[in-house]
Amino acid sequence: MDNQMIIASTLDELRAARLLLDGRVGLVPTMGYLHEGHLSLARRARAECDRVVATIFVNPTQFGANEDLSKYPRNLKGDLSLLESTGVDLVWTPDNETIYPPGFSTWVEVEGLTKPLEGAARPGHFRGVTTVVAKLFNAVQPQVAYFGQKDAQQAAVIRKMARDLNFPIKIAVCPTVREADGLAMSSRNSYLSAEERQSATVLFRALTAAKDAFERGEQNAEALRKIMSNTLASEPRAQIQYVSCADYDTLEELGMVTGKALLSMAVFMGKTRLIDNFVIG
Ligand code: AMP
Repeated sequence: MDNQMIIASTLDELRAARLLLDGRVGLVPTMGYLHEGHLSLARRARAECDRVVATIFVNPTQFGANEDLSKYPRNLKGDLSLLESTGVDLVWTPDNETIYPPGFSTWVEVEGLTKPLEGAARPGHFRGVTTVVAKLFNAVQPQVAYFGQKDAQQAAVIRKMARDLNFPIKIAVCPTVREADGLAMSSRNSYLSAEERQSATVLFRALTAAKDAFERGEQNAEALRKIMSNTLASEPRAQIQYVSCADYDTLEELGMVTGKALLSMAVFMGKTRLIDNFVIG
């Protein structure tokens, strides 16, 4: 299998194709509707590994009851051609029954790190994420798996899961890819109206304002949170769900920033929920 990208849908097809891949295999898990953020992961895998496997699966168990599962954007044909042009060797597009066979009742849950931030805002979300990623790891058996800093807590939770469960897989975290005006690329940006899309730059502006203040010497975490929420409040279309200045490793809210910290936020722009983050310190 040199240039031809293989597309597997069943688990048997995936396993048969995986057996033909030798050398160091890199995995890029996605929910599809691919953009430059996803492709940056695939390119990094292409550069670092002998073979690249991507998966496209809109994982129902990581969506809450009131979330956007049924209207999550999809474009399988476009995704496959983007992956092929990035040099991906194998794409797995499992269906729900393959990942969750009838009577499915086995879950992977990381404690502690999943409590704050996204875990508090989206109960059950990380249980769905870690369960599906563990299943993707088992099926694909990569040496390296690539995730985006855009979902900072997710990357931390998966790194913890891999360590706790002894997966022999290196977790690589790639920088957030942004639009020219700073908005972090996301499949969910397609939900935004033209006006909301313009307002959505406020997340980047809020993070930048807090980072600038930190670099000018502001170490008080509450002051940094205030800078972010004040900037967000200047945009009438933005509804804050949370703003955080937390310890980079534990994700606990800080009093003072003395080491590496994560500035992060979740904001509703109309009905669309956006997240973003910067690392400081
Ligand atoms: P998703 O399809 O949203 O589940 O994302 C699949 C992977 O792409 C995850 O590891 C995300 O963190 C990563 N990703 C999504 N958006 C970006 C972005 N703007 N920059 C870098 N990585 C991203």
